[in-house]
Amino acid sequence: MTVIAHWIDNTIAPGSSGNSAPVTNPATGAVTGSVALASVQDARAVIDAAAAAFPDWRDSSLAKRTAILFAFRELLNARKHELAEIITAEHGKVLSDALGEVSRGQEVVEFACGIAHLLKGGMTENASTNVDVTSIRQPLGPVAIISPFNFPAMVPMWFFPIAIATGNTVVLKPSEKVPSASLWIAALWAEAGLPAGVFNVLQGDKTAVDELLTNPAIKAVSFVGSTPIAQYVYSTGTSHGKRVQALGGAKNHAIVLPDADLDLAADAMVNAGFGSAGERCMAISALVAVGDIADELVGKIAERTRTLKTGDGTKNSDMGPLVTKAHRDKVASYVDAGEAAGATLVVDGRQVQANGGEGGFWLGPTLIDHVTTDMSIYTDEIFGPVLSVVRVNSYDEALDLVNSSAFGNGTAIFTNDGGAARRFQNEIEVGMVGINVPIPVPMAYYSFGGWKNSLFGDTHAHGTEGVHFFTRGKVVTTRWLDPSHGGINLGFPENN
Ligand code: NAD
Repeated sequence: MTVIAHWIDNTIAPGSSGNSAPVTNPATGAVTGSVALASVQDARAVIDAAAAAFPDWRDSSLAKRTAILFAFRELLNARKHELAEIITAEHGKVLSDALGEVSRGQEVVEFACGIAHLLKGGMTENASTNVDVTSIRQPLGPVAIISPFNFPAMVPMWFFPIAIATGNTVVLKPSEKVPSASLWIAALWAEAGLPAGVFNVLQGDKTAVDELLTNPAIKAVSFVGSTPIAQYVYSTGTSHGKRVQALGGAKNHAIVLPDADLDLAADAMVNAGFGSAGERCMAISALVAVGDIADELVGKIAERTRTLKTGDGTKNSDMGPLVTKAHRDKVASYVDAGEAAGATLVVDGRQVQANGGEGGFWLGPTLIDHVTTDMSIYTDEIFGPVLSVVRVNSYDEALDLVNSSAFGNGTAIFTNDGGAARRFQNEIEVGMVGINVPIPVPMAYYSFGGWKNSLFGDTHAHGTEGVHFFTRGKVVTTRWLDPSHGGINLGFPENN
């Protein structure tokens, strides 16, 4: 059986903890490998490698870094099918979706290829007579990236291209449910010419994370995962003096106004609700139907939902399995609870006939109507293929509903009324907003991040905020010897 190990100094490193966890193929339920779970000593070995590589990497020229980033981008683009297959085998999402995830990550690599421009500082000549001021941004040191199971490639790629381009060294701690993508990526960096120790992988669980959060060598932490862990990572990391951005969970609403094109809205709800089996932090899980369109809209969504093929991600399915049996059962239990609380099951995915292994973690797309805000199916992040419909009477009621949510990751409005859309964009308390776009993930050159319990810290991922996160500012005030500067003066110098 494959043992999925750590990656230190451009080679596989088995570690010495003796602890491991099984890795499964969710479409069959078969155990396909085991992942090493680092001890504190294992974690320190990875962190030490990143620390040792930092001085040389921070002093490497931007020309050299850019050449390596371009080489990495070319290799990734040529071989992304391999990475997509690894993702599907451990996560379960369909191959086309896995490929899409890699492509979105690749866009951040392409953004980072422009690092020479992005790192340009400012310069003021003659701020005072013969005194010049220069601002520069410098790397932080070894940084940690801790990622969730649902995007084994894209989420780490939100961070490491920019961290590396700006001169930091990286320790990536992937989710133990989907550990293999990280090693494939690490080998690709080595092939692209990245020096040993600049990109490292630490496999593990809480033990590994806690060492990253407390080890003084680690200067910054980029975390993505569930809200309780994001909150823990933020408070522990910052209390140990680190810069932390911790992206948490979500409950994304889409509001459909009465004037919307209901066919287009129904297509969007199905795509955004059930793509990747709802295991996306930007998935739509709550549809807010405004006014008397609800019956017609729910009918159109149900019709489309019934056509979806659930099955093995390698077998031309629309939707794959959930990531583990425990997660599948938890999501199904929310559907049970919703039904028991009086919501109406329109399409029930619990008995789906999937085109995949008998032991696979199957749950079909589920549409549940007349959901109310006191039901757990509404209040909790479910992270599965379950679309709840909440009916309201007005735009104001819909707005209040979304703004009352503890989460603020993504949201969308469907309307042909420009004034209503503009009002929504202004009034909604959510970090990423779609106008007739159900999953408004910002492009690589903008920044990704939610509000409220969806992000702890103030810096979003990638784009110029990413460059800012992985660098710190320095301002240099300079004057060269000039007789006019002589003399004793204990006060503030006058600007002249
Ligand atoms: P998770 O919080 O269980 O795990 C995330 C990471 O934290 C993993 O690497 C895991 O090993 C580690 N971890 C887990 N428990 C820990 C603990 N007790 N102490 C320290 N580290 C721990 O999340 P997940 O189930 O892998 O991913 C799904 C969640 O991620 C969902 O809530 C989803 O909304 C969220 N997510 C958010 C975004 C975003 O951009 N906001 C993007 C993707 C996923």
